[in-house]
Amino acid sequence: MATRDRFGRALRDLRISVTDRCNFRCGYCMPEEVFGEAYRFLPKTDILTFEEIERVARAAVALGARKLRLTGGEPLLRADLPRLVAMLAGVEGVEDLSLTTNGFLLAGYAGSLREAGLHRITVSLDSLDPEVFKAMSGRRSDVGPVLAGIEAAERAGLSPLKINCVVKRGVNDHTVVDLADRFRGTGHIVRFIEYMDVGTRNGWRLDDVVTAKEITAAIGARWPVDPVEPNYPGETANRFRYRDGAGEIGVIASVSQPFCGGCTRGRLTPEGKLVTCLFAAGGADLRGPMRAGATDAELREIVARTWGARTDRYSEERTAETPRTTKLEMYHLGG
Ligand code: SAM
Ligand code: SF4
Ligand code: SF4
Repeated sequence: MATRDRFGRALRDLRISVTDRCNFRCGYCMPEEVFGEAYRFLPKTDILTFEEIERVARAAVALGARKLRLTGGEPLLRADLPRLVAMLAGVEGVEDLSLTTNGFLLAGYAGSLREAGLHRITVSLDSLDPEVFKAMSGRRSDVGPVLAGIEAAERAGLSPLKINCVVKRGVNDHTVVDLADRFRGTGHIVRFIEYMDVGTRNGWRLDDVVTAKEITAAIGARWPVDPVEPNYPGETANRFRYRDGAGEIGVIASVSQPFCGGCTRGRLTPEGKLVTCLFAAGGADLRGPMRAGATDAELREIVARTWGARTDRYSEERTAETPRTTKLEMYHLGG
């Protein structure tokens, strides 16, 4: 029996952020001005070991979670990540094991991740335009290494991929049709994401959000699309299929059409906090109890209690309230 929160939402997914470090400085996530040379990331001893992560994953799966996603920061910066993938692939009850990456290091890892038992990969790619891409990565990368990562994932048998694109007005909105074009007919699904007010450091303004409606209108004007039913209840992306049969796209409308009612996602931070909403100010500490000798049953009890007390619905309340000023950051939580 799945554990449920105060609104009856089950814990189905656990997103595991394995590091707070990143090799990019996307302005909507880790703006360079804030995360410069002097910024101090978490010390190694504060970060959960693979064995600790596996324990939390087992606890979540025992409480009904079926999907695990590795994220970060940039998860491929965490040393020996395929070993963690293999450990999590061995947890009985896991039906879906995936990874979200900026793709920069993916060409060197795709094969070993697949061999370790990874099921799926999502690659973030905001634009194919060389200058737009470079600017959005905080001038840390060209688009070439990311495309090479995508090709390596295809060769490793991880297709179809999901390609995530955060759309920011005046920055990359003029390149979304080209991105859709590049992946039409490949089987990969490009998912356009409304720019969100996660964290407090990205200077988010509602005016910078290009809505799902605008995005589908721009793409639909080039190739007509029809809405498709969700794959499962609570799916975050609204699906659209090209009328000419060239595949589908997704649009994640978390700002203009919030979907808290179906939110079944728990999040584990690199230092072991269980967080119940992307916009939360904090989470329940699991590292302390684990390092103090908590048994598996005690760990499960903390996870169950934390989820059971959950009343989060930030995106649905966003317009009605003044914005929350204390929030965890996206690079820390992993999206
Ligand atoms: N570094 C990896 C990557 O970029 O794929 C994984 C972590 S990143 C925080 C996870 C996802 O969050 C990425 O697809 C990224 O584009 C998205 N993201 C980050 N900040 C965002 C924001 N302010 N609004 C919407 N999506 C955001
Ligand atoms: Fe790094 Fe991903 Fe955040 Fe970009 S979105 S700064 S790649 S963690
Ligand atoms: Fe889930 Fe919080 Fe996002 Fe709502 S705002 S969908 S509760 S993470």
